[in-house]
Amino acid sequence: MICVMVGPPGSGKGTQAELIAAALGVPHISTGELLRAEAAAGTPLGREVAPLLAAGELVPDELMERLMQQRLAAPDAAPGAILDGYPRTVPQAEALDRCLAATGRRADLVLVLEVEEEMLVRRLLDRAAKEHRTDDNPDSIAERLVEYRQLTEPVVEQYRGAGVAVLAVDGTGPVDAVHARIARAMRGAGLLADEQA
Ligand code: AMP
Repeated sequence: MICVMVGPPGSGKGTQAELIAAALGVPHISTGELLRAEAAAGTPLGREVAPLLAAGELVPDELMERLMQQRLAAPDAAPGAILDGYPRTVPQAEALDRCLAATGRRADLVLVLEVEEEMLVRRLLDRAAKEHRTDDNPDSIAERLVEYRQLTEPVVEQYRGAGVAVLAVDGTGPVDAVHARIARAMRGAGLLADEQA
């Protein structure tokens, strides 16, 4: 099962991706986390991407493609993965399709978490106070929301057009309630068994 988790910054996609990954027994692959780890470790890649992360700007597609090719080739991703934060642009979606096709796979599901903009900004500023992420500041938040609308939403339409299952779920409310909504939607689509939470 390759599931692409899509949602604007602050929609809770990292939290929900983690829960779905645990239910399915596949890894949760967050490109944001991979990049932040590189930046924190001060690797050459990390030094290259740190200013982009801080400004809320997207890392170039070619670099993301290499990072994901490597990650998806790891043995733990053989049974599947929940992708959180990738693909974020149509060229990235095309790169992912090529990468998966090389091992006879394809995206099985696109999960879209929907949360209205006012609540997103409130959640992100709240997270800024707790986690001190360099990109949770008003300028960077605004940049990431524009990127989401302009570059990432078309990815969902592209998948829909290609016949991939797209499930849109209301991302407001407590974590458990959102997870229950996602699980229900996936069960309804025959993509989660009853015994999987
Ligand atoms: P996230 O944790 O998903 O909100 O990602 C944090 C930041 O990492 C983004 O604002 C981008 O700077 C970078 N990033 C994460 N995923 C991608 C991607 N697929 N393409 C380009 N940049 C990305």
